[in-house]
Amino acid sequence: MTERLYRDDPYLLEFDATVVARRRHQDRPAVVLDRTAFYAESGGQPWDTGTLGGAGVVAVIEEDGEILHVIDGPIPGEGERVHGRVDGERRRDHMQQHHGQHLLSRALVEVATARTVSFHLGAEAVTIDLDRLVTEEQLRAAEVRTNEIVWQARPVSVREVTRAEAESLLGGAIGRLHGGPAPDDRAQNRSARALDEAGERVRIIEAQGFDLQACSGTHPRTTAEVGVVLVVGHERYKGGSRIRFVCGHRALVAMHERQRVLDALGAAFSSSLSDLPEAARRALEQLRDSERRGQELLERAMEGEARRLLAEARDVPAVVAHAYDGWPAADLRILAGRLVALAPCVALLGSRADKAYLVFAQSEGLPHDVPGLLREALPHVGGRGGGRGNLAQGGGDRPEGVDEALAAAARAVRARAAGA
Ligand SMILES: [Zn+2]
Repeated sequence: MTERLYRDDPYLLEFDATVVARRRHQDRPAVVLDRTAFYAESGGQPWDTGTLGGAGVVAVIEEDGEILHVIDGPIPGEGERVHGRVDGERRRDHMQQHHGQHLLSRALVEVATARTVSFHLGAEAVTIDLDRLVTEEQLRAAEVRTNEIVWQARPVSVREVTRAEAESLLGGAIGRLHGGPAPDDRAQNRSARALDEAGERVRIIEAQGFDLQACSGTHPRTTAEVGVVLVVGHERYKGGSRIRFVCGHRALVAMHERQRVLDALGAAFSSSLSDLPEAARRALEQLRDSERRGQELLERAMEGEARRLLAEARDVPAVVAHAYDGWPAADLRILAGRLVALAPCVALLGSRADKAYLVFAQSEGLPHDVPGLLREALPHVGGRGGGRGNLAQGGGDRPEGVDEALAAAARAVRARAAGA
């Protein structure tokens, strides 16, 4: 059984130990030590990293009652003495997030009688899931309460008690057990199960006069070390709420990131921070107005273009074959729609743009096979495709073939009209 040095002293970052066994974990070498300051992943808190002799410690996992230090680098032999060094920044980060979580969870019980059913401490996000939906107001109240406790620098103590003592201390609404290895445990079973797993001795973490929890994690000496607790988001989740938050150093990083984004937006909108929402709303409104106006102008232009093309047409019913440069297919469709609505006509339109686009249409009651016309024209532009009824469209990768495609289709229409 490995002696867990971090339990008595979460600030201990260097230690000497003896290798008692060599193991493998998922095809990577691992060692078991007689004592360790490395925290093994548990209760929502990730493992520590660092070095063991000349090797890097990449994961620390508890498996079958053993603490496996998964390493990359020279593997020390059984019985060998090794010097361990825990990554202090990562440890401090985990202590800030994890203890901040205890306090925030407690404040949410106080403010909203919302219980935490799971905790996840990721590389980026820290979340807790609550058994009920909380409002923005409740969340802000809990955030204020949490930070007050942080700033009061309340002593945090760790003690081991018997199961019976733990049950009476944490029973009812007082405490939530937080030592179990599975972050997704259901709330109802959590206390009982964590107590079962904890065995006869249960580790209790107390933020003086505020929060009491059974927990195997690493915690600071006082609440002040959490620094600040910042709720950065919340959403509905499994009938309750999922809360995203950051503590301590992560709060500073999150603040810097937001500041950078807001500065960029402020520069883009030439606006101060407080005027940004209004500036963005105005800009969106102007954009919508411009789009509406653009659409009106486009329709007016298409109406004029359609009338001009029909006036130039000599066939009856009119056969309009025309190519444009750089038009998107959507504009060809609008023009074709105007043409076939204004007079009985066959519209054969094309565009030489990044690709070749063809849109063929005919007025209701005219006899041509529009999809067939398109199918025959498409090889000229190196495309394939088809359509249905009185409208067909397609494209190809040879814009230089658009004129020939339209000419061939116009010939086919006129030949059919002459033969009819
Ligand atoms: Zn905990």
